[in-house]
Amino acid sequence: MVRTRFAPSPTGYMHLGNVWVALLNWLYAREHNGQMVLRMEDIDRARCHEEYADALMEDLEWLGLTWDEGPGGTYAYGSAVQTERMDYYRSILDSWVREDRVYPCYCTRARLHSIASAPNLGEERPVYDGHCRYMTEEERKKQTKKPSLRIKVEGPVQISFDDMFHGHQEHCLRSGADDFVVRRADGLMAYQLACAADDAAMGITHVIRGCDLLSSTPIQIYLIRLMGKTVPSYGHVPLLCDSDGIRLSKRQHGITVRELKEKGWTAGDIIGQLLYWGGALEQPEPMTAEDTARTVKIEDFRFLSKENVTVL
Ligand code: GLU
Ligand code: ZN
Repeated sequence: MVRTRFAPSPTGYMHLGNVWVALLNWLYAREHNGQMVLRMEDIDRARCHEEYADALMEDLEWLGLTWDEGPGGTYAYGSAVQTERMDYYRSILDSWVREDRVYPCYCTRARLHSIASAPNLGEERPVYDGHCRYMTEEERKKQTKKPSLRIKVEGPVQISFDDMFHGHQEHCLRSGADDFVVRRADGLMAYQLACAADDAAMGITHVIRGCDLLSSTPIQIYLIRLMGKTVPSYGHVPLLCDSDGIRLSKRQHGITVRELKEKGWTAGDIIGQLLYWGGALEQPEPMTAEDTARTVKIEDFRFLSKENVTVL
C-alpha cells in the first residue's frame, strides 16, 4: 500500500509552502487509495513549540488535508512524534557503536569551519576531512571535549535513485569527506538520522518533499540501507518562492494559513491557488480538498519538475 508522509517541524505557523507539500502528499495517497502519516519533526526542542504543532494540526484539518496516522496515536512503530521516539534513535546509534559504524568527532566548530571554507571544498553539503576517523583509542581517551558522532562512510559508494519528478539521480559518498554527523555534541539527534529511521520504520513508500532536501536524500538512503530496511521512492517538488527567488518562509508576511483565513480566504481559495501555481489549473479557482481528490491527478501538475516556482 502507498504510504506518504507530511513531516513538518513545528517552528512557526503553517504557511503556503507547507500547505503545498502537505497537499501533494495527501493527494498522492488519495489517488492510490493509500495512507498519509503526519509526523511531527520536533527533535530540535529549542526551535519547536507545542503551540505550533497544535496550530498545524488545526490548520490541516481546516484545509481538509486529513491524516491516517499522527500525533496522539500509537502504532506498530510507536509514536508519530519524534520527541517520543528518542529511545528508538538511541537504539539504532547503540547498534552502530557496537558494529563500529560510527566514531566520535572532537573537532571544534572553528576547525570545522576552516575546513568547510577551504578552496574546492565548499560544496552543497559540509565536507569533513576525516580527522577524527583514524584516531587511536589512546588519543580518544585524551580528549576533553564532548564529541559528536559521525557515520563512518564505507566509500566511495555510488548512491542512485529515480526521483519521481526529476528523473535519475546519482551521487557518490566518500569515506571521510562525507562522514556526516548523526548525533551532535550536545546530544541532539541529526535530522538525517531521525528522518531516515522514521521513513523506514513507518513503512513510508513515497517521500514527497521540497527540492531543498534533494541533497539529503543520498545520505538518508545510505542510512536506511545500513538499517537493513526498504528504501522508499523519493519525489522532490519545487519550492514556492517570492519574486526575489527567496523561498516562502517566516520571512514573508501574510502567507500563513491563519493570516489568509483572517483576510477572508477559504480553505478552497488556498488549495485552488496552489493548484494554479503548480500548473494543475489554468486559473486559480476555489477548490476543496475533496473536489481536488476527485478531479486532479498528480500528473496534472505541470511544474513538478521545476526547482522553484515564483508565486508572490
Ligand atoms: N521537517 C523537515 C522540514 O520541515 C522536513 C523533512 C522531510 O520532509 O524530510 O523542513
Ligand atoms: Zn573531528
